[in-house]
Amino acid sequence: MSKILEDLLEHDLSDDCPVCRAQDIVDAALVPAAAAWETRNELPRYSVALHGAAALLAAMMEDGVPREAIDGALGQLLDEIEQQLSEDSAMGGPPQGTA
Ligand SMILES: [Zn+2]
Repeated sequence: MSKILEDLLEHDLSDDCPVCRAQDIVDAALVPAAAAWETRNELPRYSVALHGAAALLAAMMEDGVPREAIDGALGQLLDEIEQQLSEDSAMGGPPQGTA
C-alpha cells in the first residue's frame, strides 16, 4: 500500500486523532446528508452513499493514487468497521442518539 494511504489509516492515539476526527465528520455530516438526498430525490436507499463514496475515491485515482492501493485501504477500513460493528452488537447494539 502506498505511504500516503498508510498515513491516512494510522490512528495517532491523541484526542485530536485525524482518523477519528475524519470519521466523526462523516458520521455527523455526510452519512445523514446522503440519506436525505436519497429521500428528497426519490433514489434507492444507499444509492447516493455508494456513488458518493466511489466518486470521492475516484478523485484520489485522478490524482494518481493507484486503484489497488485504494482497494487495499478500503478493505482494511471495512474490516475495522465490521469488527467494530460486531463488538457493538455484542455489547447490545450501537450507541443511540450520539449527535
Ligand atoms: Zn483515532
